[in-house]
Amino acid sequence: MHTDPTCIFCKIAQQEIPSYRVYEDEAVVAFLDLSQVTKGHTLVIPKHHAKNVYELPEEVAADVFKRVPTIAKAIQRETGAIGMNVLSNAEEVAGQTVYHFHIHLIPRFGHEDGFGAKWITQNDAFTSEELTTLASNIHSQV
Ligand code: AMP
Ligand code: ZN
Repeated sequence: MHTDPTCIFCKIAQQEIPSYRVYEDEAVVAFLDLSQVTKGHTLVIPKHHAKNVYELPEEVAADVFKRVPTIAKAIQRETGAIGMNVLSNAEEVAGQTVYHFHIHLIPRFGHEDGFGAKWITQNDAFTSEELTTLASNIHSQV
């Protein structure tokens, strides 16, 4: 398993610095995000160091994502959240500040609970032909 001795989340995974653990097994750790954007805000990380989704090996992705439903439901039960945002930021433009892959679980309690993602729908920005080409071009590179 690859680790980076300079990485803060590797240090959390190795118990070199403390965290508020909510889950741990051989491959994955989940702990409370110190920022607590909403109550129960949790990060799920692999013990394997990978910068972000672009560098995440498939088997590590499988290890992390398969734990998400169980951890999400435990947070929901404990906090009484009525919804949850599940997200991962990759690179600075997307808001990534710690370069060890992590999934944010952000329980939601209402529209004014502290979290918000600006979502501007662009229904008319692309023609049907452009969307067909775009989908086809992405498809050919999967
Ligand atoms: P991102 O901006 O998506 O890279 O998220 C990084 C998150 O890590 C932020 O929400 C921080 O609050 C959180 N964070 C940074 N250091 C720690 C730490 N030592 N323990 C818990 N959460 C942390
Ligand atoms: Zn790391």
